Amino acid sequence: LHKMAKKIILVTGGSGLVGNGIRIASERDPRDDEQFIFLSSKDADLTDKESTRKVFEKHQPTHVIHLAAKVGGLYGNMKANLEFFRINMAINDNVLSLAKEFKVEKVVSCLSTCIFPDKTTYPIDETMVHNGPPHTSNYGYSYAKRMIDVMNKGYNQQHGCKFTSVIPTNVFGPHDNFNLEESHVIPGLVHKLHVCTQENKPFTVWGTGKARRQFIYSVDLARLFLWVMRSYDEPEPIILSVAEEAEISIKEAAEAVARGYGFTGEWIYDTTRSDGQFKKTACNDKLRKYLPDFKFTPFDEAIKETCDWFSKNYPDNV
Ligand code: GDP
Repeated sequence: LHKMAKKIILVTGGSGLVGNGIRIASERDPRDDEQFIFLSSKDADLTDKESTRKVFEKHQPTHVIHLAAKVGGLYGNMKANLEFFRINMAINDNVLSLAKEFKVEKVVSCLSTCIFPDKTTYPIDETMVHNGPPHTSNYGYSYAKRMIDVMNKGYNQQHGCKFTSVIPTNVFGPHDNFNLEESHVIPGLVHKLHVCTQENKPFTVWGTGKARRQFIYSVDLARLFLWVMRSYDEPEPIILSVAEEAEISIKEAAEAVARGYGFTGEWIYDTTRSDGQFKKTACNDKLRKYLPDFKFTPFDEAIKETCDWFSKNYPDNV
């Protein structure tokens, strides 16, 4: 007649794209022994240790999914690498040190593929995180993220903590940043197509459309995060991505969004805009070794759900 020990899962950065994905995934597949607490920046100042301590005291988490970070576009990063480094270092040091102090059973922190070496061979895999300098535009953010892996290793070796990290590729879904100028490609295209469809205007894709990316739906990423939290016990990072073969061109991504909106009007490629990195192909072999049968949501279906969410929430909640 034992009562099942309840997991209290604290999600930092819980109001963002991935945090909302975790909320949606946990509502679709609820477990009796799991209670989620989604923190937003209003609940605590994670750069401040005492403020962070207060949320740990209040919620007494057994698990932490650590998503909170200072993030910004290319130009924001270039102007303020020092601040990106210091703020993210402070957040990560506070969250991980308090997780140790409060005897949290597991911490899963979120890294990003943009932290990998700038000069690299493809596909990129988990062993390559520290192989060479990251791109100079966002070295502050990248080195701070890499230090999470250093801390995970140390907390594991010296204190036996189960702290680990995941590396997602390009994420999209509901609750993304859909700002036209400062978003990533999928939310940017969704917003533009919404407007083009309503106003019958031509659709502009930035760059040549030839750059290639691996996209992951936030709800799929969330299901994988929950698997990592429940069942993945290595301190080393794991890439959460669709296969190398599922990498698509920006043109193909734009066509999927156009189908999502039933858009059949005129297209323009604005080649005065940069393509950015041509590709950053990541390898998901490690994930596939653990989860050979995991099914990603078909891209068109995930795009449709994202378009529908945007249409429903435009213009007030996006
Ligand atoms: P990245 O993966 O960090 O390079 O980020 P993005 O998601 O911002 O951009 C990926 C690619 O999409 C680049 O090749 C862009 O040129 C292209 N792209 C096409 N249209 C858009 C758009 O409306 N917004 C953004 N952000 N990128 C776009």
